[in-house]
Amino acid sequence: METPKRRSWAEPYRMKMVELLKMTTREERLKALQDAGYNTFLLHADDVYIDLLTDSGTNAMSDRQWSAFMTGDEAYAGSKSYYILEETIQTHYGYKYVVPTHQGRAAENLISQILIKKGDIVPGNMYFTTTRLHQELAGGTFVDIIIDEAHDPTNEHPFKGNVDLDKLDAVVRQYGAEKIPYVCVATNVNMAGGQPVSMANLKALREYTHKHGIRIIHDMTRVAENAYFIQQRENGYQDKSIKEIVLEICSYTDGATMSAKKDALVNIGGFLAINDWDIFEEARNLVVVYEGLHTYGGMAGRDMEAVAVGIAESMDEHHQRARVGQVEYLGNRMIEFGIPIVKPIGGHGIFIDAKAFLPHLKQDLFPAQTLAAEIYLDSGVRTMERGIVSAGRKPNGENYYPNLELVRFTVPRRVYTQAHMDVIAESTAEVFEKRDRIKGLKMVYEPKYLRFFQARFEPL
Ligand SMILES: *Cc1c(COP(=O)(O)O)cnc(C)c1O
Repeated sequence: METPKRRSWAEPYRMKMVELLKMTTREERLKALQDAGYNTFLLHADDVYIDLLTDSGTNAMSDRQWSAFMTGDEAYAGSKSYYILEETIQTHYGYKYVVPTHQGRAAENLISQILIKKGDIVPGNMYFTTTRLHQELAGGTFVDIIIDEAHDPTNEHPFKGNVDLDKLDAVVRQYGAEKIPYVCVATNVNMAGGQPVSMANLKALREYTHKHGIRIIHDMTRVAENAYFIQQRENGYQDKSIKEIVLEICSYTDGATMSAKKDALVNIGGFLAINDWDIFEEARNLVVVYEGLHTYGGMAGRDMEAVAVGIAESMDEHHQRARVGQVEYLGNRMIEFGIPIVKPIGGHGIFIDAKAFLPHLKQDLFPAQTLAAEIYLDSGVRTMERGIVSAGRKPNGENYYPNLELVRFTVPRRVYTQAHMDVIAESTAEVFEKRDRIKGLKMVYEPKYLRFFQARFEPL
């Protein structure tokens, strides 16, 4: 690449409009936190200064995406915006058939209902909340086959998203290939901390699944960020473009679910893409029940236009360098302060190891949930829990006790500045200095599904 080595990751854009934020006092934040039951999901966004709750749907769109918005075709059937989106997906990801959905989980619902039968096993490289739930609702059981390194927040393996083929083989031997409708492979594994899968691993997985007649369904939510890491870290890919790498990744899989709210730089949207005509036929029938006609699937024509432009922009080398560079900058500031974070620094955010940050709190006292509340109180920075609360309960009612008890600082794309990153790290460092005084929370309300969204807590 022609970018000089000792140049910063500065953004390949400038600002034309800004969004003004409300600044709050500590007293106001304490009141807001109490009203929210110490769950950062329940805060009013208005009371948040820097919002790192998620990188999902929080992207800043470009001037080109906003222009495309105006050219959206809102025809109920056969909208030209659909054909533009379809062609963009075929060109950049290489999949044959496309069913638009309003977001990623709707695509997960379709593929789970179509492919999973009661009693089936779905191996995957770490669970994702909505993905696993749809697999379970369809009668399947998720089995984690990610490499052990992914569960160790201090391990610096460059591809912590990799599938452990021995684990997969053990599952195949135990249940038989006919019980496995597909292997679910996420690129840039969200729950592992935004960690990539290597191309070598994908190739080996393709070979193995071919031999056993098992499909691969790709959770491609952050595939371009994964491609950037392959370009930076994997032998033989330094001179390949992100666009080429993304196409190669997708070529080892049979279909994909996509949340366009991440990589694709929009605020809403998603799709199911698939190479098999019969599955496509069924998905096209089913999408009408849940989302809308197969040429809009829950999206407005203008949304499909913005997704199409966003997909192309996500392939830009300078964009990904600044995107991942900003996250690395924040992570390195945290490391300078001695804050325990998951390493290597991931693609879409920083993940603090709450067990190491608050070693005096047992997991039943919700250390990550507690820490997220403390950071909000200190500075109005909103983060979220990815630990025991997010992991939820097993179908038999027992709590999952995940190894990783993390606080997630997800960085929206093209939204915040380097000075914002400094404030985030400084505030976390201040909470870190006073960590001995932090006592934990107790859960006082627990919803049945995906409890992390609505659970309420009280301080001990
Ligand atoms: C966000 C996400 C999804 C679900 O997509 P939505 O658009 O939020 O429904 C699925 N998998 C992963 C890895 C995600 O990050």
